[in-house]
Amino acid sequence: MNQLYVLIIKKKPLTIILFISVLILLALIIWVKTDYFEEVINYRYDDSVVVRSGSEREKLIALTFDDGPHPRFTPEILDILYEYNAKATFFVLGKHVKLYPEVLQRLIDEGHEVGNHTFTHIDVTKSSYGKISKELDDTDNIIYSVIGVKPNIFRPPFGFLNNNTLHIVKERGHRIVLWTANQDPRDWNSPTADSIANHIIRNVGNGNIILLHDYVPEKNSQTVEALKIIIPELIKEGYRFVTISELLEMSDLR
Ligand SMILES: [Zn+2]
Repeated sequence: MNQLYVLIIKKKPLTIILFISVLILLALIIWVKTDYFEEVINYRYDDSVVVRSGSEREKLIALTFDDGPHPRFTPEILDILYEYNAKATFFVLGKHVKLYPEVLQRLIDEGHEVGNHTFTHIDVTKSSYGKISKELDDTDNIIYSVIGVKPNIFRPPFGFLNNNTLHIVKERGHRIVLWTANQDPRDWNSPTADSIANHIIRNVGNGNIILLHDYVPEKNSQTVEALKIIIPELIKEGYRFVTISELLEMSDLR
């Protein structure tokens, strides 16, 4: 004890105290981070909460469109879907539903599904518990005010997740829907229609959930043109286009 006292107080007290503090801090960071990541990874692979694809047994595809409704692009997409009797899912922003409620009503009337994508496209990892709850509830409520039903699926903006969001979403009984790996052609970044279509067709597989956007601000979206290639080609290959709920039901993932 005396020796330790001499070592700390007489020799290099500051260096040793600093060293011990850094060790404690490192241990704390590792403990918090490990716990955090384990929880997120567990949720990510828990089919009852986070979905990335449907069953591989069926030739079903779920097209999903984020960030709308948009006054021009969403109706153009709906026209193509109608032409091929294809169903899809739209993850809408509350602020866009407020601006274009008639577009949301039309997509519901035509048999498509709507999902919650927050009110203002927040990054949930940088938002408080209260803020995430409010964004989700406000979006559910505005959707309800237009179509009389609340959605039961949620897609976090950018696909980012954290424990608060998982907790909030679970509490509301929503399912989190991401997308199948390799089915994000980044259509918001102005690739050509051919490159969007080739990306999807090249990587396609049974039960895929495909990520596209019906609202791309200040850019001319090529998504509509890409769909004119993708849908007939995949129908020719024997695929059928269904909503997320239909995909989950047929995949026994209700
Ligand atoms: Zn988005």
